[in-house]
Amino acid sequence: MQQISCSALIRQGSFINGAWQHAETSFKVVNPASQQLLAQVATAGAAEAEQAVLAADHAFAGWAAQPAAKRAELMQRWYQLVMQHQDDLARLLTLEQGKPLAEAKGEIAYGASYIQWFAEEAKRLYGDTIPAPSADKRIIVQRQPVGVVAAITPWNFPNAMIARKAAAALAAGCTFVVKPAHQTPLSALALAELADQAGIPAGVFNVVVGTDAKAIGEVLTRHARVAKFSFTGSTAVGKQLIKQCADGVKRVTMELGGNAPFIVFDDADLDAAVQGLLASKFRNAGQTCVCANRILVQRSVAQAFADKLAIAVTQLKVGDGLAGDSQIGPLIDANAVEKVVQLQQQALSAGATLLLGGKIDQAGTQFYQPTVLTDVSAAMEIAKQEIFGPVAAIQTFDSEQDAIALANNTEYGLAAYFYSRDIGRVFRLAQALQFGMVGINDGIISNAAAPFGGVKQSGYGREGSHYGLDDYTDLKYLCLGGL
Ligand code: ADP
Repeated sequence: MQQISCSALIRQGSFINGAWQHAETSFKVVNPASQQLLAQVATAGAAEAEQAVLAADHAFAGWAAQPAAKRAELMQRWYQLVMQHQDDLARLLTLEQGKPLAEAKGEIAYGASYIQWFAEEAKRLYGDTIPAPSADKRIIVQRQPVGVVAAITPWNFPNAMIARKAAAALAAGCTFVVKPAHQTPLSALALAELADQAGIPAGVFNVVVGTDAKAIGEVLTRHARVAKFSFTGSTAVGKQLIKQCADGVKRVTMELGGNAPFIVFDDADLDAAVQGLLASKFRNAGQTCVCANRILVQRSVAQAFADKLAIAVTQLKVGDGLAGDSQIGPLIDANAVEKVVQLQQQALSAGATLLLGGKIDQAGTQFYQPTVLTDVSAAMEIAKQEIFGPVAAIQTFDSEQDAIALANNTEYGLAAYFYSRDIGRVFRLAQALQFGMVGINDGIISNAAAPFGGVKQSGYGREGSHYGLDDYTDLKYLCLGGL
């Protein structure tokens, strides 16, 4: 077993009602860089998921009744503890997920920023008064927490995807149960340890770790005491979970797949566009739902852009995320590597050109070389599916209208990016792109102050910003009569 120096934060079982759980069976957590065993974690299933929901339900009334300032104080403490342990949490995250340590530190700070943001927002959960239609009435609108929130999160941001859901839920006065991806349970459990240290009461924040996602998911989407379900993951699984939630008419937030276009116009600053693309495409080895997936470059600058990109990509350093200078870590597992290989092969056999990379890297079996493909077309699978690997697939277009049509030609609508210095074009594109988030001359768009979320089959609901509390509260209208 690989020695883990951040072992003070290692927990090896679910956290339910303020207590660490044991079990007869366990599952393995491995380092995707080396396939070394990191930990054996006690396996939870449907029964434990139910216990967690009941604990959250039991804790709800007390937590919701706390003054907002008290919830905010505990959340601020949680935020501070996360930041105090940023280095250890980042190391743990890199060990189980693979991303370079600098990115892991960034993720811890990013996740913590949601806890801080929503601690502040908790105090501004304002209602409304509305002029009544008659003199003897008053209309008052209050926002109340929905109740128990259940969530399922993916492995690509093992800390932040939990932090940004839990922070909004707890700030609103909801209690929370999360099932993290089985590949990355340790970051989730470390967050629970710090929530406990911060004094967040038992039952308010629960983590259920196990390998039978379907069984746990059944409980989290169908249990009568769950009021709202929040999911980040693939569109296919999300659709299934929406159906399960429909039976109980549960509130749902879905942050699903994307197929982000990254458009470079002939009036763009090409060097800035290359830098933006590096950040958007190669972060987390291409394994984010907002990664540039279809790079659309105007024909007149396509060669110049590809040349500049190739120079920049050649300099990316592939290697174990714990090595200080590594920029591209491993993919999460062998299946992820196989998917990238398949998509690339299909593209090449359909006429794409390999400019750079294109192989499994010598750093290890799950490391893929940063790759650039040109002559890609919209009909290729690589332009239709999320690549989730470090492969930049470049298509060309002629006119602005072509670019808009190509960009919108997808069932997804999460993030889009474009580079242009023409102010008219900037506004036309901002209007025409059918995506929930648009990066304009910027490749990194996500932060706690802004609403993160998609349209079309990328889902619904928003995380972060002052809008982020809306999904966790119900409006209650009080009609005062007889005045
Ligand atoms: P990814 O490609 O990121 O693994 P998934 O949608 O498969 O996307 O996984 C996201 C999360 O959904 C993970 O926590 C996973 O365990 C969980 N999951 C996968 N299948 C199901 C299912 N049928 N029911 C509930 N949760 C699921």
